[in-house]
Amino acid sequence: MQDASGHALVQFQQLGRDFRQKSGLLGARRSLRAVHDVNLSVLHGEVLGVVGESGCGKSTLGRMAVGLLTPSRGVVRIAGRSLYDKKEHKDHARFRRSLSGLVQMIFQDPYSSLNPRMRIGESVAEPLVCSGLVPGRTAGADPLAGGGETARSLDRGEITRRTLDMLAQVGLDADAAKRYPHEFSGGQRQRVAIARALITRPAFVVCDEPTSSLDASVQSQVLNLLRDMQEKLGLAYLFISHDLAVVRHMSDRVAVMYQGLVVEEGEAEALFTRPLHPYTQLLLESVPGFAGRAASAPAVAAKLAPLSLAPSRQHCPFAPRCSQRMPVCLESPPELHFVSEPQGAASENDAAPTVNRTMDSTGGLCPQSAPTAGPPEKTKQGRTEDTALAQQPGARRVRCRLFI
Ligand code: SF4
Repeated sequence: MQDASGHALVQFQQLGRDFRQKSGLLGARRSLRAVHDVNLSVLHGEVLGVVGESGCGKSTLGRMAVGLLTPSRGVVRIAGRSLYDKKEHKDHARFRRSLSGLVQMIFQDPYSSLNPRMRIGESVAEPLVCSGLVPGRTAGADPLAGGGETARSLDRGEITRRTLDMLAQVGLDADAAKRYPHEFSGGQRQRVAIARALITRPAFVVCDEPTSSLDASVQSQVLNLLRDMQEKLGLAYLFISHDLAVVRHMSDRVAVMYQGLVVEEGEAEALFTRPLHPYTQLLLESVPGFAGRAASAPAVAAKLAPLSLAPSRQHCPFAPRCSQRMPVCLESPPELHFVSEPQGAASENDAAPTVNRTMDSTGGLCPQSAPTAGPPEKTKQGRTEDTALAQQPGARRVRCRLFI
């Protein structure tokens, strides 16, 4: 759902982030590309899952989405306004100050995300103070459209009432407000972190691996709480996790990242039942029994073994590990392309469209091994608007030469 001005709630446009890294004895510096060329959007009330292996840039993307990390390139727009471009609006400083009332983040580690010296009540109420909703101060009418609470003054009684109300909503009693973080279990601390993130009634929340440090028995409770709060408050989530089952349970749409790039994006069910990109297929096969796919550890390990090809920005980033690599894959990196849902692939048991190719001794495509099954029906639209994609059931964007 778009807001009245026609914007998605959050937009990433050509977003990229590099880090400088020392390498070698002499400490020569080199640039590490953590996130590159990301174009995504999150609609109001939507959950966009982000999956990928460790180090693929998921958390970097999440931190840029909430203003914790400045991008090297590209734009992050919240409610139509650039998060990092100071020149775009005269009141950019006030926009940044009021951001905690519009976007929030739930971190992976509930132990380090809470100040051990602050009582739970103070920690939960703190974002209200930071967002300008403090006693005796009136920030004035907030022009932000499509989310967040209108800025106004709150008296201490109202702050206390809202803190206790939020604690109750996440399943903690009023007594918790007087206690310190070390008195709680990991699951209870994550509930506190959720209360702290949601007390300003934000429109957009980045959940960065919110359950990965919790016991399995507590994970489902926290996930159900996140889902309930999302539905109740109409929140939009950027839900980051390496756990495919969790992302499938939580997400409306999913983006798969590999080496800082989005390689496939689409509706969650379509993507998990009919993955198109070779990396997505491999990711799903690596989880035994996931989505009814037979997993064979030796087969996956063999596919993951790098071929004799060094990583390079000059070719497809997945080429060193891709079992369907073609000579053309080494000529230039592929762009994201819109791919429509393959004909007759509507049921869960239908296999993803595949191109049956064999590899020659160098890992390239044998010239005589023409594909026996063609790539799925495609359009020539190239990069499309995410909103258009969202309207096409089962459609997605894929960064792979098999679909170009
Ligand atoms: S572009 Fe080529 S190497 Fe890259 S994922 Fe597709 S088939 Fe594999």
